[in-house]
Amino acid sequence: MRVLVTNDDGVHAPGLTALAEAMRKVGEVVVVAPDRERSAVGHALTLHHPLRATEIGSGIFAVDGTPTDCVNLGIHTLLGSKPDIVVSGINRGANLGDDITYSGTVSAAMEATLMGIPAFAVSLVTGGYGQNYSAAAAFAARLAGLILEKGLPQDTFLNVNVPDLPSEEIGSAVITSQGKRDYDGQIVEKTDPRGRSYYWIGTIATLFRDLEGSDYNAVSRGNISVTPLHLDLTNYASLSMLKTWDFT
Ligand code: MN
Repeated sequence: MRVLVTNDDGVHAPGLTALAEAMRKVGEVVVVAPDRERSAVGHALTLHHPLRATEIGSGIFAVDGTPTDCVNLGIHTLLGSKPDIVVSGINRGANLGDDITYSGTVSAAMEATLMGIPAFAVSLVTGGYGQNYSAAAAFAARLAGLILEKGLPQDTFLNVNVPDLPSEEIGSAVITSQGKRDYDGQIVEKTDPRGRSYYWIGTIATLFRDLEGSDYNAVSRGNISVTPLHLDLTNYASLSMLKTWDFT
């Protein structure tokens, strides 16, 4: 088995190191990751300048691009052949609810899914640097084994969030749905020494709704959340209503 490991926190992030180490029990690991932190770049693809991949260790490539670039380069060039699975993480910080639309970690798994390769993203639910990457990595290795054994449903990838707790304190893994976050929309405006305004987005604490069966609901109770995601964003429930609109 060949495993492509990537992330959005950069090739030197402790979560990536822990994940790659755990995946070596699953198969041959090749790491292709951004050369610096690229969190919250979403599904961005670099099209307007060349990309360089530097092999900084045996089977470890640092790319001056996004997580999506890394999956592309890994699958089509650096690995020489398609990997059996792509694993993205372990992200420093949760990827829950609507936040996943910004996530480079989740987008890397999405990109692999577009290329027909089973994939999942894994994130550590922490507000700090993260203490328990090894517990999350051990779960990721178990999950990779299950995916390789059973396969994933068509066009589906998994978004995994693991509480930042020692393994003996982590609850069970539960299948969840994508939760909902309420954004307060606050922007912090300051003034620089030359009198010009500058802004910070996302510095205010935000609230997830504690919805039954949601990703947040699981991790807030110390459980591991496993959310199946797919790429079809169509809102099927709205089709019949919208089809009544007269566009003429
Ligand atoms: Mn990140």
